[in-house]
Amino acid sequence: MDYNASAPIDERVLDSMVDAYKNKIGNADSRTHEFGERARTVVEDARKQVASLLDVNSDEVFFTSGATESNNIAIQGLREYAERNNKKHIITTAIEHKSVLETVKYLSTQGFEVDLISPDITGRVDQDEVLSKVRSDTLLVSVMHVNNETGIIQPVKEIGDFLTDKDVFFHVDATQSCGKLVEEIRALNYNMLSFSAHKLMGPQGIGALILKRDKFKLPPVKSVLFGGQQEHGIRPGTVPVALVVGCGKACEIAELEYGKNKTHLEEIKNALIQTLDKSGVEYSINGDPEFCVSSTLNLCIKGVSSEALMISTKQFCGISNGSACTSKSYSPSYVLSAMGIDKNLIEASIRISWGPMTDKDEAVKNFEDLLIVAKQIAN
Ligand code: PMP
Repeated sequence: MDYNASAPIDERVLDSMVDAYKNKIGNADSRTHEFGERARTVVEDARKQVASLLDVNSDEVFFTSGATESNNIAIQGLREYAERNNKKHIITTAIEHKSVLETVKYLSTQGFEVDLISPDITGRVDQDEVLSKVRSDTLLVSVMHVNNETGIIQPVKEIGDFLTDKDVFFHVDATQSCGKLVEEIRALNYNMLSFSAHKLMGPQGIGALILKRDKFKLPPVKSVLFGGQQEHGIRPGTVPVALVVGCGKACEIAELEYGKNKTHLEEIKNALIQTLDKSGVEYSINGDPEFCVSSTLNLCIKGVSSEALMISTKQFCGISNGSACTSKSYSPSYVLSAMGIDKNLIEASIRISWGPMTDKDEAVKNFEDLLIVAKQIAN
């Protein structure tokens, strides 16, 4: 029940990767033999699969090692342009993934000015507040589509629509929505979008940065690494063919199955909430359920330490409190803190997330067992 940290790989994805490892050997950028040609063909097929899911052109898809790298390239990659044009103001939110927050924090030590917008108790940032911060020297607005801890959908449609005719770049971290909110992403207006394949049952270590062309011109993003010309120099380094193939396959499957998956995910959420209601535990849901995706539940179980609950149930349940990237040591979730939730309630909050491969009955059974433990350790 921790799909938001990483989903299991789809067997069909794995098969496509094994085939690539066995039969598409070689460097996709080798021009001197057939092996390179064959590897290049499957990489370009995968690029088309990603492009089709997102409804962009394949020459707007740049493979990276995942969303952390995509976010870094999208933000740091604009630095030279920003300095040349004296546009050094960035707007983002206090609930972004650390790969956005730490990057803008670094830039703020380099002469950039950063406005961080906090959400209210609903878990959503106010689009008007975000947009009211736009100035003549604003370089970039970066807002995530779906928050990884709460599952709350942010107003990126409204923000993107407002920014379309402004001289400001808009970046969306779509790591938690890619392959899930398919129509919604297709309808967004953005310049740059990031995701990781492993959140949609693809392999870990691969993802993409989408750079949308404006009158044939890409956003003026420069690589943050020096090296070769792979991925048009946006992300130098040998293209990992089998990972790229897996990423493409995961996108293809998501495109075919997202409609069916949506119903399954909703059924699981309803069943989990019914289980909670029946259990007699006192609970509240963090974030406004109206804006929550159907695959995440962030819950506060009154009087139950989330740390104690996780330790007591870890034999049969994989849940979390906060994002995996910050969970090496316990500190209260910065996302829930930014929403204004009381520290004691944050300490009693857990995140449960699931996906298309989750079996509803098994999830309910495990959740019932978890709630029995919760009642035992409640104080
Ligand atoms: N952004 C969001 C919203 C995420 O949930 C994650 C993964 N937790 C990332 C970025 C980073 O993804 P990765 O670790 O695959 O680079």
